[in-house]
Amino acid sequence: MLALATLLTVAGCMRSDTEQFHTDAKLRVHFIDVGQGDSTLLESNGEFVLIDAGELDYGERVLSYIRKQGADKLKYVIATHPHYDHFGGIRTVITMIDTENFITAETDCDTFSWLKLLKAVDTLGINYIDAEVGDTYSFGEASFTILAPRSGGYEGYNNYSVVTRVDCGGVRFLLTGDAEQESESEMVEAGADLKTDVLKCGHHGSSDACSTAFLKMAEPSYAVISCGENNDYGHPHKETVQKLDAMGCEILRTDTMGTIVASTDGKELDFSTDKGGKS
Ligand SMILES: [Zn+2]
Repeated sequence: MLALATLLTVAGCMRSDTEQFHTDAKLRVHFIDVGQGDSTLLESNGEFVLIDAGELDYGERVLSYIRKQGADKLKYVIATHPHYDHFGGIRTVITMIDTENFITAETDCDTFSWLKLLKAVDTLGINYIDAEVGDTYSFGEASFTILAPRSGGYEGYNNYSVVTRVDCGGVRFLLTGDAEQESESEMVEAGADLKTDVLKCGHHGSSDACSTAFLKMAEPSYAVISCGENNDYGHPHKETVQKLDAMGCEILRTDTMGTIVASTDGKELDFSTDKGGKS
């Protein structure tokens, strides 16, 4: 892993000396504040990838956020798994923005809202891709590789989460949806290349994700946790926070910081946050 000369901006506005850096970024990763849910927008050289879009109520906000970034097209939309706090807003987005490809992992989910999303993908003529471990997709000057799910028959849908590692130059992001310890163990045992600079913690910082073996392999310098203020689940769990603290990992949380944007030129990383970014 690179020794990163990192500029961390934790205040609400960017420092003026990092503005140029943001403009020149080869990859921007936006962890959009969608309350208790997940939505991540990747942007490189005018090409965009959306991973999840929060609950249905957040669809419009995610849509306007994407448009604000100048996107009139999404190259890939990934629905990590069939839970509402991840896919709920996707139909609103793909109905309004030209979308080329839709990626998800095959499950037996037959809830009304999930089937409605799959139907919309079909009706809109969006190319459906079944997530396959090892497949790599490029956008702009970056790419993402699918690392999980590696098997099936999981209890519940969290472990079906499509896990991606995003690469730009020497900088990496590991985006795990709601993958829990079972999927993490499979990645560790398979010897998947999990090394990363930024980890979006699985399952909103729950203690059923971020297993010690997984964190040891990933060795993140930064951990992003996407969760809602005072959520009913107590996310992030204190065990997870303690583990990340113990390894010297800087934690960034959407419930306290709002939308978090990481920018990189492929060598260095910079973060900015915007508490008002969800509207
Ligand atoms: Zn979730």
